[in-house]
Amino acid sequence: MCASVNETLFAMDNTIDKWDNACRLCSEEKNEMLPIFGDEGLQRRVAQKLRACLPVLVYNTDPLPKQICQFCAARLDDAYEFREYCLNVYRNMHAMLFKYRQLESVQIFLDAMKNSPDPCQVCRSYNLL
Ligand SMILES: [Zn+2]
Repeated sequence: MCASVNETLFAMDNTIDKWDNACRLCSEEKNEMLPIFGDEGLQRRVAQKLRACLPVLVYNTDPLPKQICQFCAARLDDAYEFREYCLNVYRNMHAMLFKYRQLESVQIFLDAMKNSPDPCQVCRSYNLL
């Protein structure tokens, strides 16, 4: 794995002047690229999905590539869809717990959630924060 990362970094050193055509996510140059801040990129909410699924920020003014390849775009869509699905399940499970809040283990969990970032905002919707 490390060798692969190093090879990628070495390749990127040689192509830093070609970032205009490189994919932001895999660094490869493909025929069909999706501009992150173009019409389709905005419509498909690429920047928001990147922020939601990866610990990266993308700005129109940053010096990194502003497009992703179609392969990465499809994987990003899948990752975002999976994230949303899991969050919905979590949200439903979390909401169901409020029926059982008299149980000590449930109360401990809900108290802990009050003091941590709640990705599903369930506590907030129940006015518990
Ligand atoms: Zn790519």
